[in-house]
Amino acid sequence: RAKKVPNTNYEYFAPEIEEQTTWRLHLIRRLRSDFANRKLELWSQPQIELASEKVIGMEGLLRWPDGNGGYISPAEFVPLAEYSGLIVDIGHWVLEESCRRLQELKKLGYPHLRVAVNVSIPQFRDPEFVNKVKRLLTEYNLPPSLLELEITESVVMDEPQIVIDALTDLKEFGVTIAIDDFGTGFSSMSYLQKLPLHRLKVDRSFVKDIGVGESALIAETIVTLGNKLGLVTIAEGIEKREQANHMIKLGCDEAQGYLFGKPMPFNELIAFLAEHDANNG
Ligand code: C2E
Ligand code: MG
Ligand code: MG
Ligand code: MG
Repeated sequence: RAKKVPNTNYEYFAPEIEEQTTWRLHLIRRLRSDFANRKLELWSQPQIELASEKVIGMEGLLRWPDGNGGYISPAEFVPLAEYSGLIVDIGHWVLEESCRRLQELKKLGYPHLRVAVNVSIPQFRDPEFVNKVKRLLTEYNLPPSLLELEITESVVMDEPQIVIDALTDLKEFGVTIAIDDFGTGFSSMSYLQKLPLHRLKVDRSFVKDIGVGESALIAETIVTLGNKLGLVTIAEGIEKREQANHMIKLGCDEAQGYLFGKPMPFNELIAFLAEHDANNG
């Protein structure tokens, strides 16, 4: 927060800003060394089909151990990883780890489950990005349709042409694309048509107070829009049974949320799948 020096046009930065900058640089250095030392974890959160409650796939979510038994939220460190450019290498690791998991899921008898991966703007700015994704899928001998890339509206708005070109190429290759946190950004409706989308993720803020007031209306509008555009709709952040029921009524296809399963380490997800299968036929 810059402050104005009275009666001049000068601005100066308050000392707390300098402290924050030092802290951020410190975090970036730690993130770089923890990533190099393979300390980052990729957790998985199940995604289910609402009608059958069968697991259809999972989203990979980064976790950064804080050294005290806790974790630093990706909401906090992903922006630093983006700012520093580290996200290009971290993101590649996430993609490769996801491909490894798809192979393992196949071996374990789950050849249809797909894995979704969040992708940031610096990754798209890497001119090798599309080739890297194709190479991984080929190297791991995977049907590309099992890999889904999640992008937010802000990624599209930042670099529309680069993102549209990359995604169009990847979709032709068979990769599927989801638009994440839909409704929270400022996407122009015309981009929805230009993007080769497969899935639309309804942001959890609209699911939260479902049944009351405006967020319910927005959720309904987003699901209707998705359905009319021929996209699969998935509701994020389903915590309560009533929310799931309401989303089914609106015509939403799939869900992800604490009600069905929290993000968990991959080995726990495998145990979850076996148990879930036993309970859901
Ligand atoms: P996102 O992609 O929208 O991920 C969904 C977030 O919602 C996750 O937060 C998840 O833990 C949380 N969530 C899921 N179900 C529920 C629920 O029922 N209730 C509540 N309150 N929350 C729920 P998380 O894991 O903290 O991740 C935050 C964001 O960090 C992600 O939002 C994504 O934008 C970013 N992120 C995570 N992993 C990666 C990654 O590998 N690469 C990139 N570029 N970004 C990542
Ligand atoms: Mg996501
Ligand atoms: Mg989301
Ligand atoms: Mg989000």
